[in-house]
Amino acid sequence: MRSFDAIVVGAGVIGTSVAYHLARLGCTKVLVLNRTQIGAGTTSQSSGILRTHYSVIENVRLAQASWRVFNDFANYLGDEEASAGMVKSGYLIAAPDGAKLDALRSALDAQRALGIEVRELDAQQASSLLPIARFDDAALIGYEPEAGFADAYLVATGFARAARRLGVKIMEGVEVNSLRMEEGRVVGVETSQGDFSAPVVVSAQNIWAKDIERWTGIEQPVKAERHAVLALEGPQPYTFQMPVYKDLGSPGMLYCRSYGGNQMLVSEGIVGDKLDSPDNEQGDISMDYMVEVGAQVADRFPSYETAGVASSWTGAYDVTPDWNPVLGRLQDVPGLVVGYGFSGHGFKLSPAVGLVLAQSALGLQTEIDITPYALERFRNGGLLTGKYGLGAVS
Ligand SMILES: Cc1cc2nc3c(=O)[nH]c(=O)nc-3n(C[C@H](O)[C@H](O)[C@H](O)COP(=O)(O)OP(=O)(O)OC[C@H]3O[C@@H](n4cnc5c(N)ncnc54)[C@H](O)[C@@H]3O)c2cc1C
Repeated sequence: MRSFDAIVVGAGVIGTSVAYHLARLGCTKVLVLNRTQIGAGTTSQSSGILRTHYSVIENVRLAQASWRVFNDFANYLGDEEASAGMVKSGYLIAAPDGAKLDALRSALDAQRALGIEVRELDAQQASSLLPIARFDDAALIGYEPEAGFADAYLVATGFARAARRLGVKIMEGVEVNSLRMEEGRVVGVETSQGDFSAPVVVSAQNIWAKDIERWTGIEQPVKAERHAVLALEGPQPYTFQMPVYKDLGSPGMLYCRSYGGNQMLVSEGIVGDKLDSPDNEQGDISMDYMVEVGAQVADRFPSYETAGVASSWTGAYDVTPDWNPVLGRLQDVPGLVVGYGFSGHGFKLSPAVGLVLAQSALGLQTEIDITPYALERFRNGGLLTGKYGLGAVS
């Protein structure tokens, strides 16, 4: 039996962040177990968009604290070679008259209330930032100049390397088969490479968090949902200087950003294809989907009418009923802390989530209150449903 002070299951951007923060808080006898390789889960599929724009105020707080880390990643990790691959392109979000307008207005107010720089732009100002798009139908355009995008895989491997330097042990290719329980408490894990003990286990398993249900008998409201991402090559480049764009007026609530400084990465920000199991294999992207997204892109970016698909991939979201994560200790399972259900927006929250989950695991007061994210909200009606409705903008 090998003994640790804490075990983390999953080495995506969340699990590696938890491990790093545990060590930073002085808990260095930490074991991280991952079935595959560091960052090879849904982290490697991320579009990487960073913004603090949310209609759920709790998310704004986590995103704001996380942004400070992304913005100073190497210093924060004490590793001058670490990079989050951040491109501070800014974030534009526009709504026409209609259902999304009030949500946008109140989200911008909430950001301002927390001291985040956001501006309201007119169509001409927006066009000067993103000349390839049209803004003639926009009733309100928000702009967050400090936002942008980064590289989730780089961030996960950055957290992992910094954690290792602080003494954390990360084992790849190890499957956790079950929790070890004694007198109703979690005391470790059973794995494909034997048993390990620890007084606290943190599950950062993303779409595989249904394992917890199997291990504890307690329902975990998370479903895997497949989303497709396209990289388009258009006649006008989508440069790194151009902001990320969220189009609340399009049927699919499209999000777009520069890809490689030239192409456009685009995906829909609404409900995707439900998967029966946490199947993380690449899925087919139907021609119908490409045509549907292509039409929305051409409507917003007229010159992209003639754009071609340069590449495409699919990724899975770990979706909960209110599209927000479950964070913290599981009330009925002492010794178990969970962080799953990021519903397509977990990367931008990962530094702060890692910190608060590490604090929770160590029985410390969390820097940001995570009680609203408790599993119990699905039983007591305190859902964190965003004003935009279901979708990753939340
Ligand atoms: C297409 C797509 C686009 C996205 N775009 C954005 C975006 O623009 N901005 C944003 O903020 N977020 C985005 N996200 C979401 C974000 O990428 C995820 O929330 C985040 O990467 C999740 O990290 P994770 O550590 O929870 O999960 P993962 O990276 O999936 O890691 C979980 C790990 O746990 C391991 N594991 C699970 N069960 C076991 C077990 N029993 N034993 C051992 N190991 C196990 C898995 O192998 C896996 O490596 C996007 C996601 C997708 C799919």
